[in-house]
Amino acid sequence: MTTTRRTLFKHAAIATAALATPQIMTRAAFAQPAMAGSMPAAFERFMLGRFEVTILSDGHRIVPGPQSIFGTDQPVETVEALLADNYLPTGQMQFTFAPTLVNTGDELVLFDTGNGEGGREGGVGQMLANLRASGYEPDQVSVVVLTHLHPDHIGGLMEAGAPAFPNARYVTGQIEYDFWTSTDRVGTPAEGLHQSVMASVAPMAEQMSFVGDGEMPVSGITAMAAFGHTPGHMVYRIDSDDRSLVLIADTANHFVLSLQRPDWEVRFDADKAAAAQTRKDVLGMIAADRLAFVGYHMPFPSVGFLEPLGDGFRFIPETYQFDL
Ligand SMILES: [Zn+2]
Repeated sequence: MTTTRRTLFKHAAIATAALATPQIMTRAAFAQPAMAGSMPAAFERFMLGRFEVTILSDGHRIVPGPQSIFGTDQPVETVEALLADNYLPTGQMQFTFAPTLVNTGDELVLFDTGNGEGGREGGVGQMLANLRASGYEPDQVSVVVLTHLHPDHIGGLMEAGAPAFPNARYVTGQIEYDFWTSTDRVGTPAEGLHQSVMASVAPMAEQMSFVGDGEMPVSGITAMAAFGHTPGHMVYRIDSDDRSLVLIADTANHFVLSLQRPDWEVRFDADKAAAAQTRKDVLGMIAADRLAFVGYHMPFPSVGFLEPLGDGFRFIPETYQFDL
């Protein structure tokens, strides 16, 4: 069969019509598409020696006025200049939350629980959904470690009036637990947080064990005192084979303001001088030993390295270091 000049023209005409048709149909048949809105399921996974580490996003929140939280002992212009130098807006900032799941082969350990159901309407409280999306079920979690007892770390302990991790035991710092559960907090500015701890942490007291500096709640996981942000705030070093990772929790709460200026006062730190000293000690150790770390409030997926920079450190986000 030969293609004549006439049939070639005919095919071309059909092709042109076919190309034109969808446009006409789009205008006629489809309403304007709504924005999808919600964020996709988000988790980051890598192997650390024989351990599997999964960083779970709990979502993010937009917060106005970074200069009213970080560098409160500094001129506002100084804080704004550092933000601008790092290509960040000065009027508002994004807070992320990164609960971290470690499968040691024997235990499934969850570090902190996110904002929980109370934060869900505001776009956070996504940890549980992302834990499931990552391939685990909440009843598989065998240990929940609480670095400290602020609401964005304990908010996910309860779900619909029951423990979210029904088979778990719990671990936290003795000093931290004693501080927040003490009735001495009643009638002080800490009373609100005391009440939230009594509501969501104290009910787990029978399944709770307490750690001090240098103790190992799970084989390969070592607690380290990092007081200041809260009275009993702890960080955790994870070691498997020749790989190490430090979960710094809230030692540093912003990847530029806290890392580049560890001395600056932070509104959220209970003991500002102790928190600054702890920042310099913990971050200094991570930089000197070239360790990887997870920062609960670092930009998701919240894992990286530190390079000394002036009086502080520069955040180097992890890329493929764990995959090779
Ligand atoms: Zn926090």
